[in-house]
Amino acid sequence: METSENCSVKVAVQVRPLIADERLQGCTDCVSVTPGKPQSELIKALNRNHFCPKVFASVMVPYPPKVQIGTHSFTFDHVYGSGGAPSSAMFEECIAPLVDGLFQGYNGTVLAYGQTGSGKTYTMGTGSKDGSQTGLIPQVMDALFSKIETLKNQTEFHLQVSFIEILKEEVRDLLDSVSLNKAENGNGHAGKVTTPGRQPIQIRETSNGAITLAGTTEIYVRTLQEMATCLEQGSLSRATGSTNMNNQSSRSHAIFTITLEQMRKIQSVFPGNDTPDEDMGEEYFCAKLHLVDLAGSERAKRTGSYGVRLKEGIHINKGLLALGNVISALGDEKKRKEGVHVPYRDSKLTRLLQDSLGGNSKTVMIACISPADINAEETLNTLKYANRAR
Ligand code: ADP
Ligand code: MG
Repeated sequence: METSENCSVKVAVQVRPLIADERLQGCTDCVSVTPGKPQSELIKALNRNHFCPKVFASVMVPYPPKVQIGTHSFTFDHVYGSGGAPSSAMFEECIAPLVDGLFQGYNGTVLAYGQTGSGKTYTMGTGSKDGSQTGLIPQVMDALFSKIETLKNQTEFHLQVSFIEILKEEVRDLLDSVSLNKAENGNGHAGKVTTPGRQPIQIRETSNGAITLAGTTEIYVRTLQEMATCLEQGSLSRATGSTNMNNQSSRSHAIFTITLEQMRKIQSVFPGNDTPDEDMGEEYFCAKLHLVDLAGSERAKRTGSYGVRLKEGIHINKGLLALGNVISALGDEKKRKEGVHVPYRDSKLTRLLQDSLGGNSKTVMIACISPADINAEETLNTLKYANRAR
């Protein structure tokens, strides 16, 4: 039987607290979370591991137009509800396995999904202010460098990062103006390895199915600080558009990618000789982890967008629509066995993530929701989308 361990997509929900603006508008909390009982029948029935929380979005919108949505309940792999930094439980349960996977050569993808203002950027740590110290990406970096520290005697590591965004089906490099401080990096190989020319960035597939991005900046990093600088500078350069929902909102998908290369020395001991032979050769692994802060999932009309902004909205929906289709095709075991076509090519986003979704790779979707009653309709849409992924 399939368990969440070998299920290719795990889904977690992050419910942020009511924010000041929502309190000022007199919003009430319309989301309740009930932790599931760790009963074995429940575990079996739900095909999930020991923790089976439910989200009850019992939703009544008190403002005109009076829409009564009713009570809906969903079950996800995990639900987190605390304010402040993403909990260490979220990191340990959802993200740490992907970091470990990197060291074993498995690609991974973390997707933050949700309407604008639901907490995606805060949760991922791709903002230029709050969350940038405590979000999931900074936690990934910490875990990565501590693990490298413990393994560096047997293994040589090379780390590269890239940071791009997809806006209106076009890929933009967020690191093209980053140059790591020469004084800090003067004696090593840190620094840019690829500088984009004027050609547009292209997504390519190599003969072994690996996806590469031609024309983006890839930066070799040797230290946690260097990687943090890339995250920070790329976040600053991220395009934001102002809509009437949240003027800091981003209309684009932002993808921070960490590539880990490992050269592991294979030591073998000949019979009758107790000293390991140093020159037995090397094992090589290369894997990447995509950390994705998706565009706002709200419908274009909801943000009061017209003209250019509306065009952006339609394109963004294209990526999210394709992602939903890919993830639900991957999650459907029956379809997978029948070899049903997975529509990766329907958008730039899914094309780019193709070698890191499904197959041997590990994928986690974090559905971010606001608890406020005025957002109930979008919250319900988010929970439905996330529910399709499992
Ligand atoms: P999004 O990226 O989905 O548009 P943001 O990450 O910008 O949303 O979050 C919207 C607002 O909510 C910000 O003011 C942010 O500080 C706040 N916020 C988000 N998540 C949390 C959280 N877990 N705890 C406290 N405040 C949060
Ligand atoms: Mg954001």
